[in-house]
Amino acid sequence: MDGTHDRDGSSCETPATAEPEGGPPYAACVLCQEPTEYPESTKGITLCPVCEWREAERTACSG
Ligand SMILES: [Zn+2]
Repeated sequence: MDGTHDRDGSSCETPATAEPEGGPPYAACVLCQEPTEYPESTKGITLCPVCEWREAERTACSG
């Protein structure tokens, strides 16, 4: 072996991140503190899909 370097043309290596990419941090649900589909910058009440669905059910059944 006389100094032959491995030729691994890996010029675009991807960092191993556990977090899903492409997206701001999500706001927590105001009811159960679960992460919602809305970014933290969302104004007003943020609900996770579950609570959002429940709220819809409630309002639909009211009256
Ligand atoms: Zn919730």
